[in-house]
Amino acid sequence: MNFRHEREEVLNTAREMFAQGLVVGTWGNVSVRLPDAEGIVITPSGMDYARLTPEDMVIVDMAGNKLWGEWKPSVEVPMHLAIYQGRPDVGAIVHVHSVAASSFAVAGISIPAVLEETVHLIGGPVQVAAYAPYGTHRLAQQAVAALGQNNAVLLANHGLVGVGATAASALRACQVAEKTARVVIYARILESGLKGRSLVSE
Ligand SMILES: [Zn+2]
Repeated sequence: MNFRHEREEVLNTAREMFAQGLVVGTWGNVSVRLPDAEGIVITPSGMDYARLTPEDMVIVDMAGNKLWGEWKPSVEVPMHLAIYQGRPDVGAIVHVHSVAASSFAVAGISIPAVLEETVHLIGGPVQVAAYAPYGTHRLAQQAVAALGQNNAVLLANHGLVGVGATAASALRACQVAEKTARVVIYARILESGLKGRSLVSE
């Protein structure tokens, strides 16, 4: 079992997700589906992204059994597997805890599809999956149900999941969902008006 290319793809995407501030510490996780449904490559649990090498990635089969790797796989393996099983078109999954998307997840409000890119890349609003503790099968079921055929879903009081054909497109789904969340918050603030604050007469 080698899959060096897939292990590098997972690691590079995880590093990018961390560098862009979409997660802090060792939170978040990334996976890609292996060819011929052999399993998935996923980031290890609780390890510093800066120190990871492709050899630190973990391979599990579609039942969640470890096939390769030294470390424990991400605790969110059940959620990743449930999404792959429900969505044959998905080749990669990125899970982040970015601030604006997490704010919607805490408020229990879906991120509306207010930008062209949200519609184009995510397919519609980013719905909120009902709360379930992290790492559980219940969370996996809720995430699959709320994701539907779209490319991003919020996990209540937790974070955001993006999916795509490749790790790059799954990361892009997270970036677009996070950006849309931020734009909606800014737009709502602007809607509250700046009347009377101008220094010159308008
Ligand atoms: Zn998480």
